[in-house]
Amino acid sequence: MARPHDWRDAPLADFAVLGDPVSHSRSPKMHEAAYQALAMKRSYVPIEVKLDDLSPALSHLARLGYRGVNLTVPLKEAGAKWAEKPDEFVRRVGSANTLDLLESSATNTDAPGFLDTLPGLGIWPPSKVLVLGAGGAARALTAGLAEAGFRVRVFNRTPERAEAMVRGLGAAAEVLGEPNPEGCSLILNTTSAALSGEAPDLQWNRADRKAIAYDLTYGSELTPFLLKAALQGHKVVDGLDMLVAQGARSFEWWLGVAAPLDAMRRAVE
Ligand code: NDP
Repeated sequence: MARPHDWRDAPLADFAVLGDPVSHSRSPKMHEAAYQALAMKRSYVPIEVKLDDLSPALSHLARLGYRGVNLTVPLKEAGAKWAEKPDEFVRRVGSANTLDLLESSATNTDAPGFLDTLPGLGIWPPSKVLVLGAGGAARALTAGLAEAGFRVRVFNRTPERAEAMVRGLGAAAEVLGEPNPEGCSLILNTTSAALSGEAPDLQWNRADRKAIAYDLTYGSELTPFLLKAALQGHKVVDGLDMLVAQGARSFEWWLGVAAPLDAMRRAVE
């Protein structure tokens, strides 16, 4: 994986992923593979940016001629505030993962990218979905799922955060007092528990046998959540397909060209 640049020493390039940390990101490989597949002369680099530096970093990159950036942890909320022209969804969820530096505009491809992956799993509205977590990713996905017509349940370790999230979004979602997956076709782990080697609480004995366990985190091994699910006999899905789907949507938003999905997928496997 390419070593991230400090934003003050950023090279000349067209696109970047910004975050802190950002060294784990597979986005540079994925976007570079897309340019190669389409013989486009573009470049995409990883750049480390601390939360307090986002605004000066974006001005600096715009001056260097960068066209757009993806944002990862912990910059998505700040990115939504930075944009002069956030789209309607960004305004509502307060989180942006894709910026256009020429236009000062922002969009969020996490939610539609995630939704793109569901038909392939045989999951359609109005299936019931349990969202575990109430952070930035849960926010975007809860809003996206509810709007798409899914019946959404949310459980978070800190229940007040789940209640505040659902209230703030005005989403048609029910906050649960316990992690009960009964009746859900999809159990979606949006927590960052895997980063500390943990799985979020779940009443596995109440899960439908055919429920699919989906973790937004991806890596070379199953996360603790997916490992538990696999041991109970559930089908498991990690966040790699979503990574590709959201990346493809960012690519298309910036360049107006259909993204070469197969090349992007191969690059991150
Ligand atoms: P946030 O920091 O905003 O939210 C973290 C959430 O995880 C909170 O709800 C927190 O609960 C919960 N949590 C953390 N540790 C535990 C634990 N040990 N047990 C139970 N709950 C826990 O993170 P994001 O929403 O931005 O990202 C979440 C994950 O999703 C990250 O791992 C990220 O990499 C991944 N992601 C993947 C994408 C992809 O394309 N595949 C896209 C976007 C995100 P509490 O409120 O109680 O603290």
